[in-house]
Amino acid sequence: MENAGKVRLRYAPSPTGPQHIGGIRTALFNYLFVKKHGGTFVFRSEDTDQTRFVPGAEEYIVDSLQWAGITIDEGIHVGGPYGPYRQSERKDMYRQYAEQLVKDGHAYYAFDTPAELEEMRERMSSQGNPSPAYDHITRQYMKNSLSLSQDETEKRLASGDAYVIRLKMPRNEELKFEDLIRGWVVFNTSQLDDKVLFKSDGMPTYHLANVVDDHLMHITHVVRGEEWLPSAPTHIMLYRSLGWEDTMPRFAHLPLVLKPEGNGKLSKRDGDRLGFPIYTLNWENPLTGEKISGLAERGFLPEAYMNFLALLGWHPGGDKEVMTPEELVESFSLDRVGKSGARFDPEKAKWINQQHIKMKTGAELAELLAPTLEAAGVSAEPAFVAAACELMKDRAVFIPDLYEQGKFLFGDDLEYDEKTVAKKWKKENAGLFENLRERLFLLEQFSESELERTVHDFMEDKGLKAGEVMPVLRLALAGGLQGPPVSAMMALLGKESCDNRLKKGFQLFNTLI
Ligand code: GLU
Repeated sequence: MENAGKVRLRYAPSPTGPQHIGGIRTALFNYLFVKKHGGTFVFRSEDTDQTRFVPGAEEYIVDSLQWAGITIDEGIHVGGPYGPYRQSERKDMYRQYAEQLVKDGHAYYAFDTPAELEEMRERMSSQGNPSPAYDHITRQYMKNSLSLSQDETEKRLASGDAYVIRLKMPRNEELKFEDLIRGWVVFNTSQLDDKVLFKSDGMPTYHLANVVDDHLMHITHVVRGEEWLPSAPTHIMLYRSLGWEDTMPRFAHLPLVLKPEGNGKLSKRDGDRLGFPIYTLNWENPLTGEKISGLAERGFLPEAYMNFLALLGWHPGGDKEVMTPEELVESFSLDRVGKSGARFDPEKAKWINQQHIKMKTGAELAELLAPTLEAAGVSAEPAFVAAACELMKDRAVFIPDLYEQGKFLFGDDLEYDEKTVAKKWKKENAGLFENLRERLFLLEQFSESELERTVHDFMEDKGLKAGEVMPVLRLALAGGLQGPPVSAMMALLGKESCDNRLKKGFQLFNTLI
């Protein structure tokens, strides 16, 4: 990589609401590329559209990145040499570039009122034009510094008439660039409109601010969603017109994140529809009261989240799909990012989380499970919780499952699955099971191997099959047939709790059938 060690990428969301996994995926691809090449990850807030600003959205996005392990090197909350990193705080520096463009003949003042713009659109539609635009043709009939005399323009500017500055898109020129994912992309300027660069409220539009900032912040690569591809020619035209073509960043447009069914872009409502969070963290919109739920609170692991997001559009070289953040950084490259949309698959997400849960130690899981246990009012020795997590981890999809599916480990008060008891318990064997309980009680070492041996010997002595004994033990120890291996479960519970459960269970089973 020719720029090795010097790459600077930015994630530049607009704080118009919380970002779902599609947005965080964009941040992640920027981050992985930066880490791979030893560069800098910049976070910039593109908040120029004051009408769409949602309080708290910026913090929400920063918190989401932080939770996911995507560290910001430079940006809001962190600082850096090219700040400020919030566009509203950079407001005053954009006008000069827009004015410069006008002076050099690449942009112009436009005085049209909203009513006049509407009238133009209506007129063009009625003439059969399906997508009316302010462009190299219509600009000739509108009120702007290209169609009006210089005197008239100056008079309007001096009188304080509202105006915008528009980019003068040339006629019939070929604009092309090499996208790092899509290869050569070609546009003809005649198909492009004269985008507003500077608004009447004194704020730049996204296009101007984005290009000016990427230039001033020395951004080397722009990695963003495919929805921005149509904006790329405007940006390229701006780089050219501002004389910055030599240092123009490379572009990479990521494939869209699609609904699981593949029909359209994943959208904020899909989380509810699927019963599976598509956001990182829980949040309540302070303006609308609307609530969204996060994968973090649901019990997703940050490293699984990163792994799963990386696979939304990127294909690792080999068969290995379950990867740690370090492995992702190591093997990431933009040329393994596909062009076609990436389907969001909740089942795959669950599977990946499960694999990462399995990779953790019992003690690590116990720490992650602490909030769940606290909420359930369960208190247990840390060593016990760790051992329980170790036993349960092969079955958990989300962290709280370690408790939800292993509740019976945390208290002797069990709920019995009576139907199964009726099927498995034979009254005539009651005496035999009592004998087994005594044998177990006499064990000096209540270890998994001793327990296993004792149960095995008992079965042999009494001529009983595993199918007649194990389910009954499970029912007495856990209330149902679920759970980890019986002897492991007994060793974890310890002699006293086991003996109580067996005693209580066998007595109860006699009354149930
Ligand atoms: N502010 C744009 C957004 O909300 C940034 C697009 C870009 O990366 O250029 O995603």
